[in-house]
Amino acid sequence: MDTPLNIEGAVCPVPLTHNEQIVMGHGSGGKMSHDLIRKTFLAAFDNSILRTGDDAAPIAVNGTRLAISTDSHVVTPLFFPGGDIGKLAVCGTVNDVAMLGARPLYLTAGFILEEGLPIETLQRVVESMSAAAKEAGIQIVAGDTKVVEKGKVDGLYINTTGIGEILPNVNIGGAQAKPGDVVILSGSIGDHGIAVLGARGELGFTSAIQSDVAPLNHLIEAMLEADKNIHVLRDPTRGGLATTINEIAAQSKVAIHLNEQSIPVKPAVNAACEMLGFDPLYVANEGKLIAIVPPESADKILTAMRSTKYGEDAVVIGEVKEDVRGRVLMKTAIGTTRVVDMLAGEMLPRIC
Ligand code: MG
Repeated sequence: MDTPLNIEGAVCPVPLTHNEQIVMGHGSGGKMSHDLIRKTFLAAFDNSILRTGDDAAPIAVNGTRLAISTDSHVVTPLFFPGGDIGKLAVCGTVNDVAMLGARPLYLTAGFILEEGLPIETLQRVVESMSAAAKEAGIQIVAGDTKVVEKGKVDGLYINTTGIGEILPNVNIGGAQAKPGDVVILSGSIGDHGIAVLGARGELGFTSAIQSDVAPLNHLIEAMLEADKNIHVLRDPTRGGLATTINEIAAQSKVAIHLNEQSIPVKPAVNAACEMLGFDPLYVANEGKLIAIVPPESADKILTAMRSTKYGEDAVVIGEVKEDVRGRVLMKTAIGTTRVVDMLAGEMLPRIC
């Protein structure tokens, strides 16, 4: 008798339509997440602020312009080279608030804890959050704790919400990119995703790659101090650089042309991606930003970035055009041009 083909655990890399239930791809930050947001959340909550579609919402209270953002963190494992779920939960929200040109001020933190979680583990995570908050110069001013039965969550999940004040004379958003603008990247891509995979033991070899998780608000303040004329800021987290650049091209209705050779990727990240069949353009970052600025401001902003800890490897990686609006094109290392699309399915679940 023939042995039946064992397909248990087989994964379809690009899922077909999943309209009946949630699948992992809905959490990817790519196309499926965008579809879910549009069809389910935006349809129900629709308002002009939500429709701006940036990582933080611009709101005004008595004439003061504020940015508010929320983010949940479910990364596995809880600790990885260069960071942990606590540092990620603080930096992720600080960065999303800062990407509107805001100075992050206050955070709230909600914890969902699994019965049986060692208090010592929670203590380590909380101390890491405290250190990250100190570095960012923000305060965690409110919180919530819930406990669920063993097996109902995986250790602990953290939600953070952040609020900050948008700096004067600053007008930054994903829809502000203009033809002629220059695209700047603050450093190498893919470090976070590969570091977390390494910590899961999924690389099949040991790697020295550390997550880049970091608060970027001081970098952004240095950039704005040099020149307030910044059109777009965004951190290429889930879905990687490719997905984030596609979001901006769609929001601004412009074409974005990238130059593959100018995009920095560490050799160890490149090697890991080659072995696993990943494209570093789609691997998550947690301490990098993309800035889209007018050409006359680019040099000043680059110089300011390179004088800071988290921007010292900043480079120009492309330009904004108007030839194929809503599209991202990349000149490859061998001189051809290819379309770079948004992440389609789910590549690295629970990366943040
Ligand atoms: Mg973001």
